[in-house]
Amino acid sequence: MRPLAILGGTFDPVHLGHLRATWEAADVLDAEVRLIPASVPPHRPAPVASARQRAAILRAALAGQDRLKLDTRELDRDGPSYTVDTLVSLREEIGARRPLVLLIGADAFASLPTWHRWRELFDLAHVGVLTRPGHVPPLPEELSEAIASREVKYAHILREQPAGHVFRITITPLEIAATRIRQLLRLGGEPRWLLPDALLADPELLAPYRAQQEPPS
Ligand code: ATP
Repeated sequence: MRPLAILGGTFDPVHLGHLRATWEAADVLDAEVRLIPASVPPHRPAPVASARQRAAILRAALAGQDRLKLDTRELDRDGPSYTVDTLVSLREEIGARRPLVLLIGADAFASLPTWHRWRELFDLAHVGVLTRPGHVPPLPEELSEAIASREVKYAHILREQPAGHVFRITITPLEIAATRIRQLLRLGGEPRWLLPDALLADPELLAPYRAQQEPPS
């Protein structure tokens, strides 16, 4: 069965690093991919743009193709967006049998043991670790132990069961960070070639970042 893969994040704003990585994951996994913006990220300071604004930016960024889709379920729910709850909700939608792949950047993956009910994630989904060639951050011991019997080397193995494997997806490294884009926009710069052109073409979309106050020093 064709897997469903998801990438969660603040997407404040979404950029070509996210989009290229998920596009390549869609290729490697032959999967439908959804980007799921978080409303109240448990581990992070509040985003600059509101949930509605970040969803509008994502919608504009994804226009013109139908392989990557926007899923707003975390914005429609009250309270913090724990990944485990999102996976339970996706399971209710797609059923118990379809392979589900949680995509996570390699750095974020290394801190998985700080996530809410992290061990349960493997019961609900496979994990696809977006890995830049030559850059494999060390993993804490409890995570190495938890994934030792789960790691697989071939994408097609993820189709054989709905959840439980860990697979590294090598992606083209694009050193783009939303933090840097927010900083550029606050200082009046133009983040051309870091974001889809559609975002630069509509002045409304990036207005929240241009209007930012100086961050506290
Ligand atoms: P910030 O700079 O605000 O921390 P970010 O882009 O790192 O932004 P998110 O929007 O939360 O943070 O990222 C969502 C997911 O995308 C995370 O799993 C993150 O590891 C991954 N990611 C972020 N930037 C890149 C990139 N340039 N290439 C591949 N994956 C990325």
